[in-house]
Amino acid sequence: MVETHRILAVFGALVGLVAVVVAGELAGAFHALERQVPWPVWAAAILAAGFPAFLGVVRAALRRRITPHTLMTAGAMAAAAVGEWSTAFLLVLFMRIGEAVERFTTEHARAALRALMELRPERGRVARGCEEVEVPVEEIRPGEVVVVRPGERIPVDGVVLEGYAAVDQSAMTGEAVPVEVRPGDRVLATTIALMGSLRLRATQVGQATAFGRLLHLIEQAETHRPQVQRIADRFSAFYLPVVAAVGLSTLLVRRDPLAMAAVFAVACSCAVALATPVALLAAVGAAARRGILIKGGRFLEALARADVLLVDKTGTLTRGHLQITDVVPRDGWRKEQVLELAASVERYSEHPIARAILRAASGLAVPDPQDFRALPGIGVQARVDGHEVTVGTPRLVADPEVQDQVRRLSEAGKTVLCVLRDGEPIGLLAASDELRPEAAQALAALRELGLATIELLTGDRPEAAASVAHTLGIPYRAGLLPEDKIAVVRDYQARGHVVVMVGDGVNDAPALAQADVGIAMGGGTDVALEAGHIALLRDDWHLLPEAVRLARRTVRVIRTNLVFTALYNLLGLSLATLGHLPPVLAAAAQVFPDVGILLNSARILRR
Ligand code: ADP
Ligand code: MG
Repeated sequence: MVETHRILAVFGALVGLVAVVVAGELAGAFHALERQVPWPVWAAAILAAGFPAFLGVVRAALRRRITPHTLMTAGAMAAAAVGEWSTAFLLVLFMRIGEAVERFTTEHARAALRALMELRPERGRVARGCEEVEVPVEEIRPGEVVVVRPGERIPVDGVVLEGYAAVDQSAMTGEAVPVEVRPGDRVLATTIALMGSLRLRATQVGQATAFGRLLHLIEQAETHRPQVQRIADRFSAFYLPVVAAVGLSTLLVRRDPLAMAAVFAVACSCAVALATPVALLAAVGAAARRGILIKGGRFLEALARADVLLVDKTGTLTRGHLQITDVVPRDGWRKEQVLELAASVERYSEHPIARAILRAASGLAVPDPQDFRALPGIGVQARVDGHEVTVGTPRLVADPEVQDQVRRLSEAGKTVLCVLRDGEPIGLLAASDELRPEAAQALAALRELGLATIELLTGDRPEAAASVAHTLGIPYRAGLLPEDKIAVVRDYQARGHVVVMVGDGVNDAPALAQADVGIAMGGGTDVALEAGHIALLRDDWHLLPEAVRLARRTVRVIRTNLVFTALYNLLGLSLATLGHLPPVLAAAAQVFPDVGILLNSARILRR
């Protein structure tokens, strides 16, 4: 891996530098130099080397703050005061080197994210009048016609008007296999038209595209600090005063300014502060490249600890590409009439059922509805040609004859819907959906990873739920309204479980939000990106066990980072307070933990 090579190169350069300094120090070369060079030259060299850092120290002091550099500077001044000019100079030099290493470390941890940002398209070609003009993407307006040639990155989210192409969506979804698009299909910014050219109507541009929002969410991810990080933050708040106290007592007890300088040099490495964010950045970046969008570090931590998995059915365990298989009109009605009315009401619903009904009704005259209302978990309602039409769960009808029919259809595992006009049932629709083929294997992997309780939660009827649940060998609860799903999540949480909920964001967004980790399926669609704490950019259940493994690996890396830096500092501190560590060596040794953290965190990127 190229990245590891770069880290190792920096590491090697540091080892070389430190070796030279240590050899020089042991051979007394610096002290020999000290006698040859007059002190004002040393003072000038120190000022020149440390100037930006000193400025920061003064600024912080004006705000009555101390920083790690304050203590390092105090150490250097103490060394200079006893005539150890070379020591003072080297302390300041290593302070600056430490700063550079730290910058390298954080920058490097962001590399995976930066690579993602570089995919942001810059220019696009728009059809204006009879010509095509190339403009910066910010100048493209929604509604404009955008032209994409073979091999180009699509600059906006849009709908294909003309043309046919294979689109490489790997930037958005991590999916390597190109997808074929034709007129009417949606395409996303940053994906690449591999063969064929396209004319599209732009629907979203710039920040508003799915990719723009994705970047925004990833940037925000850094602000959701996990528990371990909060502990580290609190630790730093009292850490510096404690170090100052230890250094001053060393000075008083041992009457040795150099021992104090050594204490400051050891304790003021920033490694403790870097241990968590560096690992998290690496994890969020690694996940994003595989199509897993994590909206905050603390969700990784919760995912690593989770023991209960609750899953939604329609659109989550099933593909959500429903097919209407039966249309059963009641006496006095025709199939077409039932479908027309149902399709009219479903026009504005985003539920997978709605799409199925609209597809089944294509070619029929579907009137435009008025006063559309969604009844979450129940169905949809609207006025069509002056009549109140409802499409939804068969619970809406009490009629025993209808219920008989419903049972017959449901037992085949189908989702049954009832169409009512002015409160009277006028017919039933049955829809079948396919189980996602990889779901069973992924659930087994998740169980092995310790998510011992897995349960299916659905708003659908028990018969339809049972057929899916039996295939997967998991228990189920059916007929749940959105608030019932929240109650189930809360109930598990009250009993001390850490709950992961997987849904598609339609009707289950509140339950996703209530869970410790809400994971939304439904790659790249608006609802899926907004709902939940983790969004899967590609509908693939295999991403779930992968996410859990990544989370576990990240938490492990954070722990080792913290333990390693704490032990390293403790050892250095003991040696320093006892006066066994010359300040120059203490300062030189402090550049290693940062690189160590970086190398350790790079393990997260490994598959
Ligand atoms: P799931 O929990 O399986 O994802 P939902 O909570 O989304 O199911 O929906 C539960 C039930 O509500 C559906 O089985 C259906 O009977 C009814 N329903 C929800 N939305 C619609 C809709 N747009 N049209 C018709 N029925 C709907
Ligand atoms: Mg659903």
